Amino acid sequence: METSAVSGASEAHLPLVAVLATGGTIAGVQASATASSYVAGSISVAQLMASVPQLAGLARLRTEQVANVGSQNMTHAVWQALAARVQMLDADDDVQGVVVTHGTDTLEETAFFLALTAPACKPLVLVGAMRPATALSADGPANLYAAVALARHGMARERGPLVIMNGDIHTARDVQKVAASGINAFASPNGGRIGVMVGVDPLFHGPAQPMPHRYPLEALGPVEQWPRVAVVYAHADLQADVVDALAALYDGLVLAGVGDGNATDAAIDALKRAAAKGVAVVRASRTGSGYVGRGAEIDDGEAGFVAAGELSAQKARILLMLALTQTRDPARLQAIFDSR
Ligand code: ASP
Repeated sequence: METSAVSGASEAHLPLVAVLATGGTIAGVQASATASSYVAGSISVAQLMASVPQLAGLARLRTEQVANVGSQNMTHAVWQALAARVQMLDADDDVQGVVVTHGTDTLEETAFFLALTAPACKPLVLVGAMRPATALSADGPANLYAAVALARHGMARERGPLVIMNGDIHTARDVQKVAASGINAFASPNGGRIGVMVGVDPLFHGPAQPMPHRYPLEALGPVEQWPRVAVVYAHADLQADVVDALAALYDGLVLAGVGDGNATDAAIDALKRAAAKGVAVVRASRTGSGYVGRGAEIDDGEAGFVAAGELSAQKARILLMLALTQTRDPARLQAIFDSR
């Protein structure tokens, strides 16, 4: 991990915000300002900060390059390193808040992982951009400015990881990337955004909710030993062989099901066979919003399945991976999925 110096050190009265950079389009570079192609994770955190000189009026910044990847290449190993840094910074009395810069593709997954593994009392804000740093009207600078403003704010404490994009503030549990393009690509389809930025201050629509932290990082052990969970994406005429193949390789399967977490009879039968052999099976929905409850069309009790509730398949994968470090019992797994 590259560590760089504190900038704005002469402005001692300003709060200190730590910025952990991981790459993404916010650090992406094109051949020209109007080119449609670009490479995510190209510029360093120092260059990124230098591109927004207005940050110097908000906070002193302590920057660290934790990774520099397009977030399609985000790994569990980076998550582990990031969570460890978040915990250390949360315990550092000099630091007011933490910003994580991140690619947008898996930003919601990293936020949810941190919510479950790295309790932070201080503001913890994840931010990205839909346009590369070198684009005309890049959205990264404004998003980064808002993220630092939010991270230095006392109102953002005790809320778990927050995501800020395009002026909207979301929780780690609810936020999703809902569009492949355009700067308004993030939403919280079930709960709604929890606030907005008004200038440099957040306006929250409600009080802080308790953080869901449940899986101490130290108890998870080495990344190579984390349970392996795959996602099966349902569609018309889904065949059993896909499920059978994955069930032979993984500790858990999450169904990104049609509708309320459903699939063809052949695939559901294959999932039942998997569950009978001890593979954990969670039913989620590919629809992007709504609730997958137990027993609507499938007898989860008889099948040994778990219903994902409001969690997307990609977040259910993370929760199942972590929960499997504690239990394989479907009833206990269901209780974990039911507790917010
Ligand atoms: N592929 C990029 C990433 O997730 C997209 C982005 O950041 O907007 O890193």
